[in-house]
This record gives sequence, C-alpha cells and structure tokens, in this order.
Amino acid sequence: MNFLPGSFKYRLTLILGVLALCVGLPGYLYLDHIYARQLVADRGQALHGLATSTANALTENLRERQREVDLLAQTSLFRRADYADPELTRSIERLQQSYPHYSWIGFADPQGQVRVSTQNLLLNANVSARPWFGAGLKGSYVGDLHSAVLLAKLLPPESGDAGPVRFIDFASPVLDTAGRVRGVLGAHAHWRWATDIVRNTTPGNAKAEGIEIFIITKDREIIYPEKVAEGVQPPSKVDTSQPVGFDRWGGAEEYMTAQAAVRERSPTQTLGWQVVVRQPTSVALAPVRTLQRAVLLGTLAMSVILLFMAYWIARRFGEPLEQLAARARQIEQGNEDLQWVIPQRSIEVEHLVDALRSTAATLISRRRALEDANAHLEKKVEERTAELARANEELQFLARRDALTGMGNRLASMERLHEEFLRMKRADKPYATLMLDIDHFKRVNDTHGHATGDAVLREVSQTIRATVRDTDFVGRTGGEEFLVLLPATSLEEALLVAEKIRTAVAATPQPPVGQVTISIGVAPAHPDDANEDMSVSAADAALYRAKESGRNRVAGI
Ligand code: GH3
Ligand code: MG
Ligand code: MG
Repeated sequence: MNFLPGSFKYRLTLILGVLALCVGLPGYLYLDHIYARQLVADRGQALHGLATSTANALTENLRERQREVDLLAQTSLFRRADYADPELTRSIERLQQSYPHYSWIGFADPQGQVRVSTQNLLLNANVSARPWFGAGLKGSYVGDLHSAVLLAKLLPPESGDAGPVRFIDFASPVLDTAGRVRGVLGAHAHWRWATDIVRNTTPGNAKAEGIEIFIITKDREIIYPEKVAEGVQPPSKVDTSQPVGFDRWGGAEEYMTAQAAVRERSPTQTLGWQVVVRQPTSVALAPVRTLQRAVLLGTLAMSVILLFMAYWIARRFGEPLEQLAARARQIEQGNEDLQWVIPQRSIEVEHLVDALRSTAATLISRRRALEDANAHLEKKVEERTAELARANEELQFLARRDALTGMGNRLASMERLHEEFLRMKRADKPYATLMLDIDHFKRVNDTHGHATGDAVLREVSQTIRATVRDTDFVGRTGGEEFLVLLPATSLEEALLVAEKIRTAVAATPQPPVGQVTISIGVAPAHPDDANEDMSVSAADAALYRAKESGRNRVAGI
C-alpha cells in the first residue's frame, strides 16, 4: 500500500473518492446509454414519420390523379369516341382546370394520333411511340417522371425556373361498349405537384433543423428536389428492418436517414419510388450530445461533492485518529506532558481519547511507582553496602586486634612485619625487630590468679606502647610475648629503645604483684635478608640468651 498517501486522512479520502466514482460512473454510463438510445430512437421515429407521411401524401395524390383519368376514360362520352364532339375537349379542359398541375390532357386514337387535347396542343400529333400510349392501351398507367418531349416547345415558358419541364404521366384505355379499344386518355402532370405535396408535409422548422426530403426512383435516382448538389448519392442499401439508418450520401457529413415507399395503385407496373428524409447526424443527435454533456457534468459535480463529503468524513474521523496515534507514540516515547485537546471529536473518538488518557495516566503512575521503588531499592542497597563495608572494616580491624590489650595481634604483627620488610627492600631503610617476653609470668598467674595476670598484661602492653614512638609498632604475638618493630632504626638505636622499654616496665609498679620485669631480644633486619622471619628468629635467639643470662635484660645479636 506504498502508493497511497501517508496521512490516514488523505488515504481515507482517496478510498472514499474512488468508491464514489465506482458507484457514480456505472450510473452515468447507464443513464447515458439509456437516454442516448431513447433520443436516437425518438429522432429516428420522427424522421421516419415524416418520410411515411410524405410518401402517403404522394401515394394518395397519385391514386387520385389516376382515378380521375380512369373515371373520365370510362365515361360514355369517351367510350363513344366521337372525336369530333366538342364536348370531349370541354370535358378534358374541365378536368385540367380542376387540378392546376395538369399541363396537358389528350385523347389519342388506337393508332396513336392525338384526336382531342387541351388547348389543342399536339392535336393530330402521333404519340404511338410514347410509353404512356403503349402502356395506356393495355390498362391504367402511371408513368415515371420524364422530361417533356413533344410538349416542351409548345407549353408557355416557366417563370424563373430554368430547369427542363418534367412530367409524370397518367393514362387509361378507352373501351367501347363491346370492349374494343377506342383510344388512350393520357394526362401529363407537371412535376411541380410533388413540390406542393412535399411542402405541405414539410415541418416548419425543417430548414433550421437541416431536414431534407428526397424522392428517389427505384433506380436510386433523385427526382425531387429537382436540383441537388453535385455528388449527392442516396443510400444504396436499404435496411428495411430499421426505421432509420446512417449514411454519408457520397459526402463527408453523416446523415440520419429514414425512408418510406410510395405505393401507388398500378396493376401493370409499379413506380417503386421512395421518400427519403435525411438530417445531419450532428444536428439530429445534438440533444443527445447536450444530454450526455449534462449528465457528464452532473456526474462530475456529484463526484466532486462526494469527494468533498469523503474529505469531510475523513477529516472528521481521520484527523482525531491521527492525533490519537501521535499521542500514543508520545506515550510510547515516555512523554508525560500530553495535550488531550483533540478537535472534531465524535462520541467514539471521545471514548477512545478517554480510554487512552486513562491508560496513559495508569502507565505514567506505574512508571513513577516503579522509579520510586527503584530509587528506594538503590538507596537501600547503597546503605547496606556501606554498612557491609563498615562491618568488613570492623571485621578486618577486629581480626587484627588483640582483645585483651587493644594492641595488634599475631596476624597484624605478621602483616606489619611483612610490610616493613618490603619497605626496607624498596627504600633500603633497615628496621629493628624486638622480641619481648615477661619474666616468670606463670608465677604471676599462679600466685595472683588469671585476672591479675590479664591486668598485668594490659599494664605492660600500655607501658611498652607509651615508651616507643607512634610510628613504631607494638603487637602481642603470644601469651605474654610481644613484638616491637622500629622502622629506620639501627641495632645500636634499637638496643637503646629496648633498654628504655625494659627500664620502664621494671619501673612500673603492678600493685598486687609488685614488680614485673621483661626480657628483650633485639635483631636488626638486613636488606639482604631472604625474608622477614630471619630477623625475627635472630631476635628470638637473642631473647633466649637474655633469659638464659638471668632475665630482666636486653640482648642483641
Ligand atoms: P620465663 O618466661 O621467665 O621463663 O618464665 P615463665 O613463667 O614466664 O614461663 P612460661 O612461658 O613457661 O609461662 C608463661 C605463662 O604465661 C604460662 C601461662 O600461664 C601464662 N599466660 C600465658 N598467656 C596468658 C594470659 O593470657 N593471661 C594470663 N593471666 N596468663 C597467661
Ligand atoms: Mg613466654
Ligand atoms: Mg615469660
């Protein structure tokens, strides 16, 4: 769906618009089809009606003329065939006057000699070669249109119209009582009569509508109007099943064409004329085009309205949804400062907003609670860690502290010894190791009890501590044995310090016990020593010697 616009609103508009078009277009096509067909059929019907009424009028007129001639031929006046009777002439002249388009009426004897004629024209002329005479001998006859042959020069000239004079002939045999042919009664009607008839049937708006009426012979020759434009050809094929057809008439313009047959009554032969009516298709179907345009415009207008409606609907539902989606994204990104004013809210969107708002509020409060709990937990862990570190420190301290005297214990002594040894190795500053042991302490215990012994131990350790420098180390390594380390101190200086300690201890009275003495072995550590135990062993050996040599004394190596 990548080709659709990104915004939900426009996507919805597009989908609704296409839907509207899908619904509207078939409607338009259906309307167009139905109405266009109806209009074409109506137009065809009108043209066909005009052709039929014109053909009927022509038929009617032809039949009337034919009947007139037939009836006259059957009167006893003619059947007697007294060619000299002036009543004959009067009779045909009356007939001529009854119908203005009769140009000539005459009565020829069986040999074709004209014996009676109007205005005596062609009197005594021989017409045996004329078709009307030949056919008239056999029966009632209506002849096809032809140019005047014999009468052309005799008739008064046509006013204005310079075309050749053309006639349509009517003829009827004249029989005597015995049924023998006594001659032929013939009449020439001027072709003007067709103009008259067509003019009568032609609707008033025909010219403006481009409607033209033609009369064509069975040989497809146009006999009416008398003058047609160059190259005009009537349609050659006629589909009689359709009231109307479309034809170009030998030109570029297409015409809607309708035709109807002229059915004159003739027992021998038939004229086979057709009345053909044509109207330029462009004019005939102009209302169709107008309608199609109107329907198209209507459909377009409706589509635009539908599109606007679709846009409106999309805006109404799409915009709040898009904004809600944006809020949801903001919530996802942890944005707590959200605006909940969403325009054009429907009741559904309202519910959605409320649901999202309460969800957001729940999420935010839960996150805060979680953050608080987390912070609290971290603080607790920090506190506990600090406590643990303190306890650890305490433990470290306690592990290295002699509970009775508060001095460093054996572990602390060993560690300090190691440190001093490493420092000496590093800085080449030798230290001195003093090993101290209270003399005859067993006796103290035995005599005064363990508690007094402990008190003596504490007192002695205090004295030792008070005698040496702060930077010196004093540790209780065993029952009544102590280790003193003198950093950066030579053997001579160490012996002096040891002597000071011995003197101080001996000089400190221990109330229930009296005097307590101490023996000290002194040994310097040497940078060449393999380890720290070497000076300790040497100091131990010196202590042994001090004991051996009477106690309460200092011995160096
Ligand atoms: P000398 O060193 O002079 O050879 O004689 P001594 O009596 O001090 O000898 P020894 O090392 O055999 O005895 C040490 C005594 O110290 C044994 C024990 O009763 C006592 N003692 C050791 N530790 C403590 C203690 O923590 N408290 C008390 N009250 N007495 C202790
Ligand atoms: Mg001892
Ligand atoms: Mg001792």
